[in-house]
Amino acid sequence: MRSLWDDKEAAGFKGDIAQRVYTSRLLGREPALVLHGGGNTSVKIERANLFGEPERLLMVKGSGWDLATIEAPGFAPVRMDHLLKLAALPRLSDPQMAAELRVATVDPAAPAPSVESILHAILPFKFVDHTHADALLSLTNTPHGVEHVREAFGERVVIIPYVMPGFDLARVCAERFPRERTGKTVGMVLMCHGLFTWGENARTAYERMIALVGRAERYLRAREAWTYPVSRKWRAPKTLRLDLANLRREISGAAGGPMIVATNSDPIFIDFARRKDIAALSQQGPATPDHILRTKQRPMLGRDVAKFVAEYRRYFETYAPAAKQKLTMLDAAPRIALDPEFGLATVGKTAAEAAIAADIYRHTVDVLSRAAALDQWRALPTKDLFEVEYWDLEQAKLRRQGAPPRFAGEVALITGGASGIGAACVETFLKQGAAVVALDLSAKVKELSPHPAYLGLVCDVTDAQALRDALEAAVRRFGGLDMLVLNAGVFPSSRTIGAMDSEEWERTMRVNLDANLLLLREAHPLLQLAPAGARVVVIASKNVPAPGPGASAYSASKAALTQLARVAALEWGGEGIRVNILHPNAVFDTALWTDEVLAKRAKNYGLSVDEYKRNNVLRTEVRSRDVAALTAEMCGPSFAKTTGAQVPIDGGNERVI
Ligand code: ZN
Repeated sequence: MRSLWDDKEAAGFKGDIAQRVYTSRLLGREPALVLHGGGNTSVKIERANLFGEPERLLMVKGSGWDLATIEAPGFAPVRMDHLLKLAALPRLSDPQMAAELRVATVDPAAPAPSVESILHAILPFKFVDHTHADALLSLTNTPHGVEHVREAFGERVVIIPYVMPGFDLARVCAERFPRERTGKTVGMVLMCHGLFTWGENARTAYERMIALVGRAERYLRAREAWTYPVSRKWRAPKTLRLDLANLRREISGAAGGPMIVATNSDPIFIDFARRKDIAALSQQGPATPDHILRTKQRPMLGRDVAKFVAEYRRYFETYAPAAKQKLTMLDAAPRIALDPEFGLATVGKTAAEAAIAADIYRHTVDVLSRAAALDQWRALPTKDLFEVEYWDLEQAKLRRQGAPPRFAGEVALITGGASGIGAACVETFLKQGAAVVALDLSAKVKELSPHPAYLGLVCDVTDAQALRDALEAAVRRFGGLDMLVLNAGVFPSSRTIGAMDSEEWERTMRVNLDANLLLLREAHPLLQLAPAGARVVVIASKNVPAPGPGASAYSASKAALTQLARVAALEWGGEGIRVNILHPNAVFDTALWTDEVLAKRAKNYGLSVDEYKRNNVLRTEVRSRDVAALTAEMCGPSFAKTTGAQVPIDGGNERVI
């Protein structure tokens, strides 16, 4: 680990708070120090209040901010005198502590101060840095942890035994730190938790952190416990999508609603899952309290969800009988699964949540493997795990998050997703919380959205193998398939029957009809496994109820597609799969309609382009996003009891009405 301090860069951050921002970001740049909101920093300043009275304030990282991207407003200003008085209390419950931290914050718009604020306050130094460094955890989380820490750091640190984070930990540190510090002390190690360093300026505090973590790394290296061999020969089996979709269905059942299940078949995870000592290593618990809420106390080994849930409940009842009534507040579903075939699967209500769990577990694999190579892995004390898991503060945080968006945990696949109605559907479904897989012939589909819940795949929907590959990729990324939007289609140029070209007819049928049969057929086993019942929306056309001259291939293909969808509604209704059909008309912001075509058509009818766009009963323009909104609605609860329906979205058409 090397210091990332850069004089030139640092000079751009003037004043104590700006310096605090700068080195906090340096810490945040190193995931082996702090991961996803883990770790926190502070600076003590003096500032005049409204009455001109000087006030000592702790500027401490607020919740909801990540060190990597923190800015000045991410630090909550908390009155030092209040914090120090709190530290002297014999006891304080965690909800009380959270309330007091709020009361002592002088800016009502500030984020909630870190739950470790009191700990920062009692350390009598200007800049204080705190991380949950991987290298340190490999030392502390072993049977001889204290000896390892002492040997690695000598007299440089005060060692605090493991105490659950919160008021009690601050209290223990307030007692022990002044007593045990010496002239050589530059840091404080919290066993099974993390590391504190400090300094009179931001650079000193930061570089002491880097130096101590560097020592821990060298200690592991010297004992051949830093790198561990990874076999590169593993590769996940070619087809896993049904296994994974099954697993997701069971996990979602245990969680009480659809969940995203993301797999990662990196050889590191397959290797780890195949270790002979995997049960002993993985089942004890997490490395640091920070990891618990997102990864649960231990991963599921293999794919037996029912067994995992039963064990989880038994474990819970044994160690935390007093907190039993809170069981209903939490689902018992795993957040991490390790499997010798696919490696790692992580579970989340959103794709981002699942990705965070995977990031954390990637570091857990490092920490565990190194601890095992150094000595023997030992997780947090079992009893404390439940105390942390049901930690009031964390619970309050979960409650504050409120109701998730309606498609949270669900996966939608949209064909023809790169432009027009398809692209509008991608945006709408992402906005409503779904993970979205878009298929398109155009490479544009890959870059359509930077959202972590988006996967764009170049795919020729008329190629059955390409569709199977796309479904496999979709399920590996998100776990299954809940919603299918059949949108890809072609609109051949106007041609009378007398002039119809067989090749064009066949191509139209292939894309608008046959490709949809292939996808429905290949997707069906996945749709059957959708935890909350699958939905299919078919984008057909006004040309079905009201065909146009010169559009025989298009009208016939969409009519046949509509009939196919109606049969699917009949065949699959018993499996809880709803199939509904939309008939859009005159949606001009799609790839089918160039300005040229539009102008030509308008002229044919003797209308201006604008009149032509609004040439319907309601005199309204129908846009791609209107069709997308109705498509999403058809997948939502208002259409829960409707299947096989054909709904026009055309501004009202006299031939249809
Ligand atoms: Zn911490």
